[in-house]
Formats: sequence, structure tokens, C-alpha cells
Amino acid sequence: MVEEKGTISINTENIFPIIKKFLYSDHEIFLRELVSNAVDATQKLNRLAAMGEYNQTVGEQKVKVTIDAENKTITISDHGIGMTADEVKKYINQIAFSGATEFLEKYKDKGDEKQIIGHFGLGFYSAFMVAGKVEIFSKSYQEGTEAVHWVCDGSTQFEINTADKAETGTDVVLHINEDSLEFLEPHRVRQVLEKYCKFLPVEIEFEDSLINNPAPLWTKSPADLTDEDYLKFYHELYPMAEDPLFWIHLNVDYPFNLTGILYFPKIKNELDFNRHKIQLYSRQVFITDEVKDVVPEFLMLLHGVIDSPDIPLNVSRSYLQADANVKKINNHITKKVADKLQELFKKDRKAYEEKFDSIGLFVKYGMVAEDKFYDRAKDIVLLKNVDNEYFTLDEYKEKVAANQTDKDGTVTYIYTTDKGKQDAFIQSAKKKSYDVLELNGPLDNHFVNMLESKLEKTTIKRVDSDTADKIINKDEQIESVLSEDEQNKVKEIFERAADSKNMTFTVESMSPDEMPVTITLPEFMRRMKDMAAMGGGYAMMGNMPDQYSVAVNANHPLTDKILKAETEEQQTSLAKQALDLARLSQNLLTGAELTGFIKRSVDMVAQ
Ligand code: ADP
Repeated sequence: MVEEKGTISINTENIFPIIKKFLYSDHEIFLRELVSNAVDATQKLNRLAAMGEYNQTVGEQKVKVTIDAENKTITISDHGIGMTADEVKKYINQIAFSGATEFLEKYKDKGDEKQIIGHFGLGFYSAFMVAGKVEIFSKSYQEGTEAVHWVCDGSTQFEINTADKAETGTDVVLHINEDSLEFLEPHRVRQVLEKYCKFLPVEIEFEDSLINNPAPLWTKSPADLTDEDYLKFYHELYPMAEDPLFWIHLNVDYPFNLTGILYFPKIKNELDFNRHKIQLYSRQVFITDEVKDVVPEFLMLLHGVIDSPDIPLNVSRSYLQADANVKKINNHITKKVADKLQELFKKDRKAYEEKFDSIGLFVKYGMVAEDKFYDRAKDIVLLKNVDNEYFTLDEYKEKVAANQTDKDGTVTYIYTTDKGKQDAFIQSAKKKSYDVLELNGPLDNHFVNMLESKLEKTTIKRVDSDTADKIINKDEQIESVLSEDEQNKVKEIFERAADSKNMTFTVESMSPDEMPVTITLPEFMRRMKDMAAMGGGYAMMGNMPDQYSVAVNANHPLTDKILKAETEEQQTSLAKQALDLARLSQNLLTGAELTGFIKRSVDMVAQ
């Protein structure tokens, strides 16, 4: 018998089509919303019992999700506090709809999709995204109240009756509509439950198995946890991943609420970027793994979980960016990460160095991205040289200043991006007792630019950007064994032999045991090209041919030999050979030119 019929109090008739439209892409979240409500109701009953306001024994606590394929329903059942008929009217009919009205007023013209769920208390109504008809059977924990049955077919009409339900708690029954039949398939439902409910604080049962871990690690006290616990949890989150390097357990309750565990992964190559993402939770309900704006961008490479009831459930970008808590959380995480790195550095320098190839990526990214982080990290960022020694910025300056300062008092740091390919240059630099850094990470380009702008009177050059004699201009002249005329002649011979517009020749007096010919690409030129390759707004530079500087060593015996060769032909051939050897040492020789070089070499050896 129908006890009461009524019209849901709302100014607008068409809330359901709007809900459906707005949440179109995210239909599956109805399960998150309904299961969360069930969990809340269960926890509320627990709290009441703990406070002595509920004197009956608290029975089974599980939230159950069941599918009835025949009747095309999915049911979410809990043994929580339940609702009386009045509460159903108040919470389900009015509150939610007043939320909806508020929403409609505010967002009529804006079309910001994900905004409405949660924030406006429309959680329950997300059921109508997948169900044509929704029923609630509920019995309140309050003694002497009758069980209630509410049914609504998605119009603004509802019916309320008494129900025949003995146990305290609520069953929400969704009559799945024709275009949402996927939610009658067990694997689909399991998938959604595992995505959103994996760490809910009350046991969730589906098809006789437990979906969740109700007490995930981040909710526990760090003092009670071992390294093994952290590693185990990491693999629970990312089953296929390698062990992380270390982690930070976040635990803040003022001025905002935040718990979580952030892991520093081992990053071996660019493919590892963003493969596993940080997961964002709100009171153990999974929200999203798009944590942009909550976590500083340079820390997006971290793994793990963040849980904060202060992060708005409806993660829409514009909303998050404006949220004051999110900004505070962001700053807090940045600070915690810097603190942790400092602690590791101070506690065990050796271990820190061993991990630095991976850690360095975060540190450098952070320094490049945020000035604040630069200041926090400038004493713990390490530079590694080709002999695998690590230095802080201060230590390195101390190390090289004496020998690597040019005539104007500028200290030059020399680096290689490829120990193998730039070996000839590295050896030449070492002969001068110059130190060579290894900077071959994906961010080192930017890092070098940034360091140069931050460090006083310091310039940073790639080892092959000039000859070893000139890379640091110390104004030391080595005598040339050639007269000026001879030098001009040598230049001519080489220009003829090379026959290339992309090479500028100079004849320089270097030590006789340097290579006869050295090809360099000026530092500024190479950097612009690197930027272009990274899409840094110098796109036109990317298409320009490289303009190489070629230095011929006036003091090398081969130069003398070329000069004194009998025929012009022999001169050209020797010059070509010397030039090709230089190109070969830098991987610049390929295709027909390489074949020509091999043939010429064979002929020469055979002679
Ligand atoms: P919200 O959860 O954001 O408040 P909902 O629309 O999901 O919004 O729910 C509205 C209210 O209905 C809840 O605050 C709660 O009081 C009540 N409610 C919903 N589901 C249940 C349930 N399973 N058991 C008890 N009360 C519930």
C-alpha cells in the first residue's frame, strides 16, 4: 500500500537528463558513490556504538554488491545506520535536490563537467546514470522505527512505503537500463570496484570475495612499519614495478589533512616516465590518478598514494588550481621531498651517490621548475664526472677553479653528453688536467642552462665545443712551427679537400700530440639545436645545417707532411684523410663518405 506520493522538491523538472549528460564519460562512478555511502553509513553506526548510543550488537559489517542478471538489478547492501522515512525524505529527496538546484544556478552556463558529483551532494543520484528505476530499502538503527521503501523511476516522482526489512541497514537496488547492461557483467563490476574501492575502510564483498584492503599502509603510523611493509605495499599498488629507491610517509593534520606515501622509483629510461602514476584518494576512496595540480609537476614522476579529505572530490582542473588547500598541499609535498633528500644526503652520502642517477632526475627537474626548490636543493644536487666521482656544486667549484679559470676570471665547467662518442675530446681535456662532467640525462640540457644562470662567473661547455686549447681561453700562446704563408696554404688545401659550406677552417698552434684535425660545434649552436629538438621554441634552428668549426693543428707532423706533399692531388688526398679521421672519431662519417674513406685507407695501406 502506498503511504505517500509526492513530487521531489526541485524547481527544475529536468535534473536527471542533466546528470546523465554531465557525467556521460564517467558512468562507472555510480558504484564509487553508492559504495562510499554504504561505507559511511557503516562507519557512522560504529561510531554510535563506540559512543554508547547504539546498544544492540553491531552485526556483520560488510558492504555487499550483488548482481541479479535475471532481474537486471545490481544491489548495494550495508548494515549501517539506515534511514527512517523522514530521513529518506530529508536526505534523498530534498538535500540532494537542493544541491542540484544550487548547482544548476551556479553552473548553468559554464559546462564544467565533473563539477557536480560529490561537491553538491549528488552522489546518490549518480545511480540514475545507469538505472531507470532505483529503490531504497532501509531500516534505521533507531529503535521503534519502521523500515522504509523508496522508489523513483528517474522522473521527479517518487513513492515511499513501509517495507518489510528486519535488519538494520540499507539496500540500494538499481534496475539497470538497456544501455548500461555492462554493469550486470561480473568482470566489469569487479573492475570498477577494484579501481575505486580497493582501499575503502570497510570490507567490500563481491561474489563471495573481498575486494579491498580496509587498512592500507598509509593509514598506519610510520613507527609501526618496516621497510618490507613499504615495499610490499608498493607492489600492491604497482604489481609489475621494480623496487623503489626510497619513500616518504606523509602525515599532516594541520592546517590541512593529508596522508600518503610517495615512492621514488628507479628511472632507467624515458619509457619509465609516467608509467605508474600517483593515485589520489579522499578518505580511502579512489578519486583519480591525474594528480596534476595537487602534486607539483616536477614530482609527477613519483609513485604512491595521496589521501586528503581536503581535496575536493570533483577533480576538475580549474577548480583544483583555485583551491587553497591544494596549494598548501603542493607546497607541503615539495618541502617534504626536499627534507627527505637532505636527510638522505646527510645520513649516508655514499648511498645517496649510488642512487643519484635516479634521484638526480627529480632534483634537477625540481631545480629547473621551481626557484623555491632550487634553494632547497642547491646543496644536495650532485655533479658526476667521467671518473664517477660526485661533487656538490661548492665542492666542484673548489675542485676546478684553479685550473679551469679563463683570462677573464670565468670558471669553465666542461661536460660530455656521451663518454663513448666524445672520447677523443675527453682525452684531450684530460691531458690538460681538465675535469669533465657527465651530463647525459634527459633534463641536463635545461639543467646546464639553469646552472649557468645561477652560478656566478661560470660558463659550461660541452667538451667537443672547442679544441682543448681553446675551450678555456687562458691566453696562453703555443708557438706555431708554420709561417703565416704556410698556415694560409694549409687552410686552402683543407678547404679544397673538404669542399663543404658547413665547415669553417682555422689553423691553430696546438701541442703536436693533439689530433691533426679537430671538428667542433660551437656550444651556443648545439644548445639551440638541442632546444629545438625538445620543442623549445627554436623550431627553425632544427632545420638549419650544422656549422662546424674545423681546427687544423699547425704543429702536428701530418700537417707538415701535407704541406710538403709533392702533388696537389697528394695534398688533397692526405687532407681528406686527416679530415675524415676527425669525422670518424665523432661519428660524423656515414654512407658513401664512409665507404670512400675506407677505400682511400685501403689504398694508402697497400701502397
Ligand atoms: P553525500 O553522500 O555527498 O551526502 P548523497 O546523495 O550520496 O550525498 O547522499 C545523501 C545522504 O543520504 C547522505 O548524506 C546520507 O545521509 C544519506 N544516505 C545515502 N546513502 C545512505 C546509506 N546507504 N545509508 C544511510 N544513509 C544514506
